[in-house]
Amino acid sequence: MMRRPLISGNWKMHFTVPEGLEYALHLRQDLSPYAALVDVLILPPSVMLWEIANALRGSPIKVGAQNAGWEDQGAFTGEISPKMLAGWCEYLLIGHSERRQVFRETDEELNRKVRAAFRHRLKVILAVGETLEEYDAGRTADVITLQMTAGLYQVELQHPVDLSIAYEPVWAIGTGRAATPEYANETMALIRRLLVRNFGEAASAMRVIYGGSVTPANARSLMAQQEIDGALVGGASLKAGDFTQIVKAAAEVTESQRV
Ligand code: PEP
Repeated sequence: MMRRPLISGNWKMHFTVPEGLEYALHLRQDLSPYAALVDVLILPPSVMLWEIANALRGSPIKVGAQNAGWEDQGAFTGEISPKMLAGWCEYLLIGHSERRQVFRETDEELNRKVRAAFRHRLKVILAVGETLEEYDAGRTADVITLQMTAGLYQVELQHPVDLSIAYEPVWAIGTGRAATPEYANETMALIRRLLVRNFGEAASAMRVIYGGSVTPANARSLMAQQEIDGALVGGASLKAGDFTQIVKAAAEVTESQRV
């Protein structure tokens, strides 16, 4: 881990608004002590985002959206726009595998979303990853290269640190079968090379984080890898104890690498 770590909790479609608010306040208590060493981010459902962002204002816990469209406004029933998030919501996750698979979002659409998000000064986490079928066929490098190249097409950045890539092998998401730290590290080294090809020296500020069944038990060994700058956590981010342990592991690895 070389850059300031980013640990993000993807709540997916969980919690009612009051539950989400209460949980966010709880996390603020538990996680604030680690924020000196780690960027801690939560990604609640959009319906409770404003309420939670207000409740966490002034705290070191950052807030982001799980998805948004690419247009500013208009006849797009059910969609939210990056313009609506601008100014108060710091991060936007784009291209989570559930968006790609369940909602059939294409690389071209995701690229539009990335560019729209940067137009509105949001920080972007672009998620990429191969399916089990692609993994078994030995196509991981091709798939990642395509998703990165298409997703980042003509993306221009004022602040390189505003772009992070989440490497999430689809076969590891919600399955309890995390990638081995070595396998994740190897694929994330490829992602790093693709960032350098695309952005040159600016790529050194960008974080590449791992997602897929991260737990308190495996967080430390993942974070200790050279190419892993943090985690995108699904299931374990819904439990305060587990999420806190993961954030703590990242803080401890960072601390130990400093000396
Ligand atoms: C995710 O949804 O981004 C994720 C990694 O989920 P989980 O941690 O549950 O595998």
